[in-house]
Amino acid sequence: MPSLPPIDRAGFPILERRIGKGEGRPLVYLDSAATALVPERVVRAVERFYATSCANIHRGAHALAEEATDAYECAREDVARFFGVQDAGRVVLTHGATESMHLAAFGWAEHALAPGDVVAVAEDNHHANVVCWHQLARRRGVEVAWIPVDGQGRLDYAAWCAVAERGPKLVALAHQSNVLGFRQPALARIMDDARGVGACIVLDGAQAAGHEPFAFDEARVDFYALSAHKMMGLTGIGALLCSECAFARMEPVVGGGGMVERVDREGFVPAPGPAAYEAGTPAIAAAVAWREALALLGEAGLDRIAAHTRALATRAAQELRDVPGVTVLGDASLPCESLASFVVDGVHPHDVGRLLDAEGVAARAGHHCAQPLHRALGAAASVRASFAGYSCEEDVDALVAAVALMADAAGGGKRTGTRAMARQERTQP
Ligand code: PLP
Repeated sequence: MPSLPPIDRAGFPILERRIGKGEGRPLVYLDSAATALVPERVVRAVERFYATSCANIHRGAHALAEEATDAYECAREDVARFFGVQDAGRVVLTHGATESMHLAAFGWAEHALAPGDVVAVAEDNHHANVVCWHQLARRRGVEVAWIPVDGQGRLDYAAWCAVAERGPKLVALAHQSNVLGFRQPALARIMDDARGVGACIVLDGAQAAGHEPFAFDEARVDFYALSAHKMMGLTGIGALLCSECAFARMEPVVGGGGMVERVDREGFVPAPGPAAYEAGTPAIAAAVAWREALALLGEAGLDRIAAHTRALATRAAQELRDVPGVTVLGDASLPCESLASFVVDGVHPHDVGRLLDAEGVAARAGHHCAQPLHRALGAAASVRASFAGYSCEEDVDALVAAVALMADAAGGGKRTGTRAMARQERTQP
C-alpha cells in the first residue's frame, strides 16, 4: 500500500520549485539527512520573533529581553519534553550535534578519563563522533579502540566483546548511521554490555532524532547529541542531552559571557545548570524555530513518520538493488529507516549526483563525513537518498527511474554486476 506523507507537503513552498534541465523538473528533495526542508510555519515563527521580540537573552531588564529569554528557555523545555528528559536543566543547547559531541568529549571525558583509558568508537560513526575522540587521544592520552563493521556494514559484535573485555570507559555509537539505512542489529546489546562494564555511552542521535520516538531518560545513555536542522528546524542550534550522573561531572569548555555566576581577578564560578556550557549569545531565533518544528513533528506523530520513511527508504533500496550495475551499501536483509546509499558501476558518485540533479533529484554524493565506514565497505564515496515525513512515493519513483537510465547508459549493455567502481576507488591513494 502506498505510504502517504504524514507531514503536509503544502507547508513547504520550496517543493513547488522546478529545477534540473532547463529548470523543467519538479524538485525531488532526497537530501533530508543533510538538512531537512523548513516548513513555512517555522519560517513564520522566526519572522514573528524578529518582528516582535528581537533582543538578546538573560541580560536585559526590558520586556523584549524577557520575551526572548522566555522563548529560549521554553525551547529548552520543549526539547526536554520531546525527548523524555525529566529535567530541562540537563538539556544543553549547542550549535548542533558536532558541538554536542565535542562538549561530551571536552566537558566530560577530558577530565573524567585518565591516560590509557579505552574509548570504544563504532566504525559506522559520522566524523563528528570520531574526530573528537582522536583529539581526546592526543590531548588526554586515552586509547581509541574501534568497534569495526563487517563487509555488510553490521557492527561486529564479537570484535566489540574483545574491546569490552578491556573495560572501555566510554563507548561512542551512532543511533542511526548517516550512510547505512538500517539500524545496527547489535546496537542494543552493545549498549547493554557498555552499561555492564560501567562505560559512559555517547549516542549520536543526529539522524534518528525527529524520525522516531526516543525517550532519553529511559534509554539509559549518558549523552545524546542532536541537530535541529535535521528535524525541520534551522541550522545553528542543537542539543546535548545529559544523564544526571554525567551532567554532575561536566566542566565548561568555552568561557565568556552568560556562563558565569561570578568573575573576579582570581578566577570565575560557573553559572549553575546548562548555562555553564552555553557561553556567548546563542542562536535565539533558531531556538524559537525549533519549538515550532517540534510542535509540527509532534502533531504529525513520530510513529507515523518512522513508518513512512522506513517504507520509502526500504522500497528505494530494494528497487535500486534491482537495477543492474547498482550496489546499495549494507546488509540487504535489513529494512532501511530513512535513507539508502548506493554506487553505480563505472560512474563516480559525484557524477551520479550531478546527473540526478539534471533530472531534478537532489541527492548527496561523497563520503558523507564517514570515511572509516566507506573504507570498510570498500567504497571511497557513495550517493545517498534520504527521506523525511514530507517525502512521497513519487520521490522514490523519480530516483529509481533516473538511476536506472544512468546505470543503463553507463553499462552500455555489458553489465557484470561487479563492484568495479568501488574497486577503482580503493586503488586510489
Ligand atoms: N552525526 C550524524 C550521524 C550526522 O549525519 C551529522 C550531520 O550530517 C552530524 C553528526 C553532524 O551534525 P551537524 O553538522 O549538524 O553538527
